[in-house]
Amino acid sequence: IYGPARKNSKGVNLNINSEYQPLVDRMAEFMDREYHAKPLLGVDIADDESQRQRVTSPYDRRQAVGSVQWATREQALQAVDIAWQAFPRWSETPVDERAAILERHADLMETHLAELMTLCSREGGKLLTDGVDEIREAVDFCRYYAARARELFAEPTVLPGPTGESNELMMSGKGVFAAISPWNFPVAIFTGQLVAAAVAGNSVLAKPAEQTSLVANRVIELLYEAGMPRDVVQLLPGDGPTVGSVLSSDPRITGVVFTGSTDTAQVINRALAARANAALPTLIAETGGMNAMIVDSTALPEQVVADVVHSAFQSAGQRCSALRVLYLQEDIADRVIEILRGAMEELRIGDPRDLGTDVGPVIDEEARKGLLAHVEKMQAEGRLLAEARLDPAQTDNGTFVAPMAFAIDGIESMQAEQFGPLLHIARYRADQLEEVIDAINAKGYGLTFGVHSRNENFTNHVASRIRVGNVYVNRDIIGAVVGVQPFGGQGFSGTGPKAGGPHYLLRFATEKTRTINT
Ligand code: GLU
Repeated sequence: IYGPARKNSKGVNLNINSEYQPLVDRMAEFMDREYHAKPLLGVDIADDESQRQRVTSPYDRRQAVGSVQWATREQALQAVDIAWQAFPRWSETPVDERAAILERHADLMETHLAELMTLCSREGGKLLTDGVDEIREAVDFCRYYAARARELFAEPTVLPGPTGESNELMMSGKGVFAAISPWNFPVAIFTGQLVAAAVAGNSVLAKPAEQTSLVANRVIELLYEAGMPRDVVQLLPGDGPTVGSVLSSDPRITGVVFTGSTDTAQVINRALAARANAALPTLIAETGGMNAMIVDSTALPEQVVADVVHSAFQSAGQRCSALRVLYLQEDIADRVIEILRGAMEELRIGDPRDLGTDVGPVIDEEARKGLLAHVEKMQAEGRLLAEARLDPAQTDNGTFVAPMAFAIDGIESMQAEQFGPLLHIARYRADQLEEVIDAINAKGYGLTFGVHSRNENFTNHVASRIRVGNVYVNRDIIGAVVGVQPFGGQGFSGTGPKAGGPHYLLRFATEKTRTINT
């Protein structure tokens, strides 16, 4: 398991520039390459100019990355047919063979690290450091699920029974899974979902986010090179109304694994439930968050600020796990805000391919507009506490939003998750702690949460009362590592089981017992 690239095992920051420079040199080859993608089905499909979409870079909309041909509704339906034809043979393929494909895929992604990182940057606006973490996480998913599948699927579990009777429990794939993934982890989450479904014995229809189809296409080409049969995993780039709606309303879809907004998860849930003559579906959803951190008066202000900046602004705040609401105990609040102001002034915003950049663009104009509407509202109310500076020369041609911090009274006032580099800060008195915890719980989300304090009783108390999926004590709250911090929440934040955790594959499998009268 690799984990994040930024820190060594003691949690100390590494010198990023010297570590990354050789990789940056290897990326040059892929900087100007034009990429073209189209649906990858179990049969070849024709080129179709009318379905072609141009792809440009979020940091500079004048720069072309290539084009993608979106799947039609007919192609999506055809892919479901093909997936069902492939399923019986694939589910009977020994798990060792299925797992070995994932391991070869992991090796291939490592070999193609520079190319995949470049595409994550050019198409998705990712920092290079984020790109390295992203590919490593995808590699971890492949190796972790391969190992876990061998444990779970290789042999039946022998169960007890009376004399003269033998009992066994066996697990196998359920059928056809749709894997619908987000643009913010276009390699890691995209890969994690589909390899989990496939290694458990299902055929898979993978729909990448509209914004990041090119890198998804490249990942699938590598997966085929690793030996994945083309009819077992098919790629359906396209939009939600066309491809997404087939994948959530066709009665032949056995299950959906989805990462994205809570609203979209509800739409998928309703579409699955409304199907007539369909088996009861499986929905695995990892959705939004309204993630908070509580800092008490004994915390170390400098460490708090470093972890807050990282949690709120890394990846331009475009992580489900990112920090949205920071609660500062009133005795420490002024000091933390003063240091935070200084730290935010230092942030460099610009081209994500430049190693000196701290914050890259947000994904697209629609995202930028939504965030700026919130900024306008907060500024009109006089809530701005701190902001980073945008340099027009670096940012005018892209979809950039400056990191900002706003004062709020409490999480109750937050209407919606702001998926970008916008932090909200509330103050609390020591005697209001329980109210603060209740307010965070009452919001109904439950993904990540942080607590900073040198008082162990305090951190234990807060960590045990808070209802979330991932609690982090005295550190940042992003960058969950496969097999180390299995990731996923509860309530509006998702169904579980946790990605990168020991129980994830179980939800993709069906169980069968066999009783023999001997
Ligand atoms: N697993 C990621 C993290 O811990 C977040 C995943 C997401 O944004 O969906 O930062």
